Amino acid sequence: MNLYSLLEASFPENRDSICLEIPDGRDRSWGEIESGAARMAQWLASLELPLGSRVAAPIEKSPEGLMLYLASLRAGMVFLPLNTAYRDAELDYFFGNAKPSVVVCPSKNLDWITPIASANHVAHVVTLDEDGTGSLMQASAGFDGQFTTVAVSDDALASILYTSGTTGRSKGAMLSHGNLSSNASTLRHYWGWRSDDVLLHMLPIFHIHGLFVGVNGAMLAGAKMIWLSKFDAKAALRCLPKATIMMGVPTFYVRLLTETAFTQEVCRTIRLFVSGSAPLLLETFLEFKERTGHTILERYGMSETGMLASNPYHQQDGTRFGGTVGKPLPGVSIRITGEDGQPCKVGEIGLIEVKGPNIFKGYWEMPDKTKEEFTTDGWFRTGDMGRLGGEAAGVQVPDDYVSIVGRGKDLIISGGFNVYPKEIEGFIDDIAGVEESAVVGVPHPDFGEVGVAVVVAKAGAVLDTFAIQSFLKTKIANFKVPKKVVVVKELPRNTMGKVQKNLLRDEHRGSFIQK
Ligand code: AMP
Repeated sequence: MNLYSLLEASFPENRDSICLEIPDGRDRSWGEIESGAARMAQWLASLELPLGSRVAAPIEKSPEGLMLYLASLRAGMVFLPLNTAYRDAELDYFFGNAKPSVVVCPSKNLDWITPIASANHVAHVVTLDEDGTGSLMQASAGFDGQFTTVAVSDDALASILYTSGTTGRSKGAMLSHGNLSSNASTLRHYWGWRSDDVLLHMLPIFHIHGLFVGVNGAMLAGAKMIWLSKFDAKAALRCLPKATIMMGVPTFYVRLLTETAFTQEVCRTIRLFVSGSAPLLLETFLEFKERTGHTILERYGMSETGMLASNPYHQQDGTRFGGTVGKPLPGVSIRITGEDGQPCKVGEIGLIEVKGPNIFKGYWEMPDKTKEEFTTDGWFRTGDMGRLGGEAAGVQVPDDYVSIVGRGKDLIISGGFNVYPKEIEGFIDDIAGVEESAVVGVPHPDFGEVGVAVVVAKAGAVLDTFAIQSFLKTKIANFKVPKKVVVVKELPRNTMGKVQKNLLRDEHRGSFIQK
């Protein structure tokens, strides 16, 4: 079944009711979202592309961007959302790998994106701006808004989500209609979604959290969203008293707690605060509870899998334990495996492996990588390290609760976004005068984690740390640029010659927080 048809079945009968409430803007009704998506789907269909063609969208968050997502689903295309922070090299890589037939970008970026799209043989480039204007809107305006959603099988691809930047681990996770439908349906019941819910939506829609957990969740319940283009603590304070659910990365919660106006009274209508995409510090969890009386529900998931585990919503499902990501969601299996491939005992740390109807179909055009990440008996290797049961934050938790203790892969999560050190190191090493570099993640009070670049200069070369940061800003998205660059004589290495990133992490741990 087409995911759109599943969502549509829950749309309220009264299509004039508000779907997106937009503070400082014009609200959009369910009918407007539906017919806008239909017109875009008609335009996509008029291009006579094969089913499963990719629609790449490095666009700002907007109601029309949401329509484009729904239109791609309806027309049987594969939606490829991309962060607008991506620069030339990054887009060149994504277009080259995914081979989209359509690219939709903001008109201000058309000049530099068009040549990249042409070089990658993209047939159609149109614009869509944050204010809902652009050539996509003109092209679809002529259609009548009547479109029969294309029937697809559960295995048909609905979306490709790229897991990182340009080198190393940049892979397109292929998510099918069945993957997304099953995850949305599971969360609908597990989190008790209702049609009178109001989701405060402040997350980007190029990422799994905002798009598949937030948007799909609300639409499948026929629930309204308060739609902010991005997180802003002051705006959140104004909108919270009208919402029943808020979803955020830990940074949102940390920032809300810095506001003295953030009180129990502000949260009076909220029934659920959800956190995920990065570890929620126990101190944030506890401070939040003390300030608001609410227990944040932490959940765990990833682009490749959707949501895997969640602390319970309903009391009968159990307790929410800080420091854990809860229990495997219904239908999802989680096991912990040692480096030797043997199952770990309860409480023992190992690699987290998962199975379920929500697990992706593999990496786009990377069969070898796909094979590497699955065990021979069909479990997906998440790359995260964790344990089942044992002690979390000083409390003995039940045996089916998952705690994440670290990441097997070299990855920094900054403000909820993934940053792969290998990619950043590649750019730094290309700078004249740089011998080598290592990028490590260190704790940061606001972003959770940020990168620190430790750089070795070539003999006789003098490096300017600010110039390195400025150079990186022209090459990669801002959120990936290390917040601190230090020049050293040499990198610490073990006897195998591997850079000891753990030592660098320890050394720079106190760069942004008190050690
Ligand atoms: P992404 O694909 O961008 O959603 O990133 C997925 C990764 O984020 C996971 O593999 C985990 O490393 C991390 N992650 C997601 N949720 C949590 C959480 N609640 N606690 C700790 N790490 C998390």
